[in-house]
Amino acid sequence: MESADVVIVGGGIMGCALAYQLRRRNVDVLLLERETLGSQSTGKCAGGVRQQFSNEGNVRLQRMSVGMLESFEEEIGHPADFRQIGYLFVLTQPQQVEDFGHNMDLWHRVGLSEARWVDPAEAQRMVPVLKVEDVLGCTFCPTDGIASPADVTSGYAAAARRLGARLKEGVAVTGINVASGRVQGVRTSAGDVATRLIFNCAGAWSASFQTSLYFHPEGDGVLIGMSDREEPPGYVEDVSWEFLEKMFAQAARRAPALAAAGVKTAWAGLYEMTPDHQAILGPMGEVEGFWCAAGFSGHGFMQGPAAALLLTQLLLDHTSEIDISSFAFERFARGALVKERNVI
Ligand SMILES: Cc1cc2nc3c(=O)[nH]c(=O)nc-3n(C[C@H](O)[C@H](O)[C@H](O)COP(=O)(O)OP(=O)(O)OC[C@H]3O[C@@H](n4cnc5c(N)ncnc54)[C@H](O)[C@@H]3O)c2cc1C
Repeated sequence: MESADVVIVGGGIMGCALAYQLRRRNVDVLLLERETLGSQSTGKCAGGVRQQFSNEGNVRLQRMSVGMLESFEEEIGHPADFRQIGYLFVLTQPQQVEDFGHNMDLWHRVGLSEARWVDPAEAQRMVPVLKVEDVLGCTFCPTDGIASPADVTSGYAAAARRLGARLKEGVAVTGINVASGRVQGVRTSAGDVATRLIFNCAGAWSASFQTSLYFHPEGDGVLIGMSDREEPPGYVEDVSWEFLEKMFAQAARRAPALAAAGVKTAWAGLYEMTPDHQAILGPMGEVEGFWCAAGFSGHGFMQGPAAALLLTQLLLDHTSEIDISSFAFERFARGALVKERNVI
């Protein structure tokens, strides 16, 4: 029977980054991906990378990810196409301005000193298509930006393989063998695998602002996105033209020039949401040897690099350079939920 010290279920950004970090520390890793690497949420992702969150844990995690993306090519030997063009939050409600005032204090306190307020006139100079009549203020962080999910994921996958990790596509994990409260192995479409430790990185298979409309330059066009808050939980990934109309109506309000744009291509993907919009990172408690890195609630691409490194440290060193206890699964049992409010 095949065996591995660690089996990772799922080969999106999270699984691939984790395979690389664990292998870098000489752990014997087997990653099993049901489809192809990076083909699910990671493959649908808009590539936004920002540090402007409302929860301290997310801000710290993101500062680390940004640093890792800045030195990605040097470390991994593959470009991340990380373009630090900044990220502008457009605020139209007094409550948002008050909330972002608290956020700004937090950002400066944890060292994100480059984040700053931008008035509507400056925002319009930055983004000429922006309609700013009803805008009360904006926050801007110039070290935020966009990176390529395909490059980052395939870069981590290739680096993990170079170091000796086994990454297999087209193999579905169908069950977990547990005895005496401890993981013994996984059942897969290609036979059983013996292991004492499983990482669940299976993404979606394991609200915030007035609207969540966002846009950024993409090739010779503009990428426009918005989450559908009315979509019931499920696995539907069809493009809804009715929803696109709603999205374009929002675009017409905020950036009228975009409303007249033609549609080159459209796609939909899954967000894996938790009740507090925060990831679940670390051991799952009840079954020894079962760890989780999922539930990223729409910000998993940007959090993947740091989350993978910190989880590797937690597993091997029993501590991590940034405290990730606020992402622990046990917070649900304790009822200690602090919602992340900057969810897009
Ligand atoms: C339209 C859209 C835009 C987004 N924009 C952004 C953004 O700008 N910035 C950002 O940070 N995030 C964004 N996100 C969110 C981000 O894409 C996800 O949080 C992130 O990709 C999650 O990565 P993952 O590796 O956890 O999951 P996934 O990429 O979904 O990977 C999980 C993998 O597990 C595999 N799998 C599932 N079950 C099994 C099984 N039983 N056996 C084997 N394999 C299995 C799946 O096939 C899949 O490949 C966006 C998401 C969408 C849909």
